[in-house]
Amino acid sequence: MLDVVIIGAGPAGLSAAIACRESDLDVLVIDEFPKPGGRLLGQLHQEPTGEWWNGIKETEILLNRANTLNTKIECGVSCHHIEKTETGYLVHTSQELYKTKKLLIATGAAETAAPIPGWTLPGVMSIGAAQVMTNVHRVKVGNKGIVAGVNVLSAAIARELQIAGIDLHSMALPVKNTVTKDHAHPEKVMEGLVRIAHLAPSPFLRFGSKFAQSSKVRDLATKFYPKGGFKMWGMPIHVRKAITQINGTDKVESVTMCDVTPEGDVIPGTEEIINVDFVCIAGGLYPLSELASVIGCPFRYLEELGGHVPVHNEQMETPVEGLYVAGNITGIESAKVARAQGAVAGYAIANEPERLKQAMQAVKKIREAASIQFHPQIKAGRAKIHRAYQEYV
Ligand SMILES: Cc1cc2nc3c(=O)[nH]c(=O)nc-3n(C[C@H](O)[C@H](O)[C@H](O)COP(=O)(O)OP(=O)(O)OC[C@H]3O[C@@H](n4cnc5c(N)ncnc54)[C@H](O)[C@@H]3O)c2cc1C
Repeated sequence: MLDVVIIGAGPAGLSAAIACRESDLDVLVIDEFPKPGGRLLGQLHQEPTGEWWNGIKETEILLNRANTLNTKIECGVSCHHIEKTETGYLVHTSQELYKTKKLLIATGAAETAAPIPGWTLPGVMSIGAAQVMTNVHRVKVGNKGIVAGVNVLSAAIARELQIAGIDLHSMALPVKNTVTKDHAHPEKVMEGLVRIAHLAPSPFLRFGSKFAQSSKVRDLATKFYPKGGFKMWGMPIHVRKAITQINGTDKVESVTMCDVTPEGDVIPGTEEIINVDFVCIAGGLYPLSELASVIGCPFRYLEELGGHVPVHNEQMETPVEGLYVAGNITGIESAKVARAQGAVAGYAIANEPERLKQAMQAVKKIREAASIQFHPQIKAGRAKIHRAYQEYV
């Protein structure tokens, strides 16, 4: 029987494995992707300090440390079921059945779909798929594209596509419907723009973002948003235009874009056709937490953390004995936070109180300094989920 099985070899899973191996625990990390690194593998962005965050390099650093400690990592192995036993867990995978005393689930996040008429045409993909194809598989996703969805993730990935030499017409909202909701609401999207404006090279946009902290000014800014959009890295970002239809016979040929009211309703007669050969849909991220529910872990729905998250405490421990969670499964945050949370989970599993304390402090510091913040109320969300754990136990 293994001491620990870790599901997910992203930054959270790898740093947890390192922490466990430092205490010589018998650890196995499994991941369904052909190589370890998780979503880190696709990341490439410039920090406000000017430094570059290169996910491939960061993965290498984690892997070198894990390899030095002789950590077992199995890729191409998918976990589809987990059972709780008297002594631990049975982890059912596409390869083998693993027996373990403790289990850490670090499965990360998934993308929310934002349906737009015509979205089943070849050439339509999620923004995350475009990131993986470009930065991980080095496949050119198309010649000229457009992004439907304006948020932290789509802005970061749009920039990555530009760096890879891919031409983007602009970013605009998806058309308003029962699924797209807030992502199609200009005023709500403006709130999100405030959180990415510091990444923009344009001093004007940075200056504007300071004003946009006030909701009154933000509403005014939405109302009088320029018709041509604000430019970030030379690419217009529209929050008063929505993509209402993706057009084509056998593949994407164009999109129909319309002006919208500050509430996101389409203004008739404003249709324009934009020729593109691919469309990236960006509907946001949610914690990929199904495996925790299979074992009966309690959940809370917290908008501040991005969706349904397993109840856990600050040590990343759930109310189910021997079950831990770390990274984006506990709430959507940047890779740096996920990596720091992994260390917390690892030291908690290894029962290393001093290192655990330091790792918990590190998470808070990294969260404070995060240049990418997916949800503005993340700290409140964290406090709520930790309270839920106290109430539960
Ligand atoms: C498409 C996408 C793009 C992102 N881009 C950025 C970005 O540019 N910058 C940023 O800071 N953050 C980004 N994020 C947020 C990102 O989730 C975090 O940065 C970070 O990678 C989370 O780390 P993690 O270890 O929790 O999960 P991940 O890095 O997602 O790793 C989870 C791993 O678990 C594996 N897995 C999942 N389910 C199973 C299963 N059933 N069996 C076996 N293995 C499984 C996956 O293959 C994956 O490798 C992005 C997220 C997504 C979904």
